[in-house]
Amino acid sequence: MGIKLPWRSPRRRHRRAPAVWYQYYATVHATACEVCLRHHGEIYARREDAPPLPLHPDCRCSLLEFPAEELSYYEEHGRRMRERAQQELRRRALFRRAREALAQDALSEALDLFRESVQIDVYEEEIEALCREERAALRRSPEAARRLRDLFLRAYRWKFDLDKYRHMPEGMRAARRRHGLETIRACFAPFVVEEA
Ligand SMILES: [Zn+2]
Repeated sequence: MGIKLPWRSPRRRHRRAPAVWYQYYATVHATACEVCLRHHGEIYARREDAPPLPLHPDCRCSLLEFPAEELSYYEEHGRRMRERAQQELRRRALFRRAREALAQDALSEALDLFRESVQIDVYEEEIEALCREERAALRRSPEAARRLRDLFLRAYRWKFDLDKYRHMPEGMRAARRRHGLETIRACFAPFVVEEA
């Protein structure tokens, strides 16, 4: 399989397989800290093997207990969880680099990086922070501001079609989509001059 699970290490070998196991759940979101994301999906044979929760103030992580018979299901699930956490870390790095490029007026580089980041996901909180903190750069280039706003609006329109939001009821997805689109328009309004 090639996946190295923590419980396979000799240090943690047990004489008898435990009846219940534990899986680490972080909230994969723009506000989740990197440390928590790195544990997302990990499996432990004993509660003591897991990091002590909460890891920090406002930590939203939890341990899910599951029966030994379901280990292979949770291993498979854990693999997808780790992939998702890795993707979020990659998305953040892209978004951060995009902001740096924007601040330095490297506009086409910034747009490329933002485009790559929204292919993974897009968060309205980050867009609000961007419009607040990179105000000067956005003022300098209304054209870049307009293209950026349109990129975020487009991304936000299909955000809730992503697999990870499938569990959300349709009404809630529609409401959150509407809210996000309004927020993005409002954030960019001071920088974008609409054509008459
Ligand atoms: Zn954390």
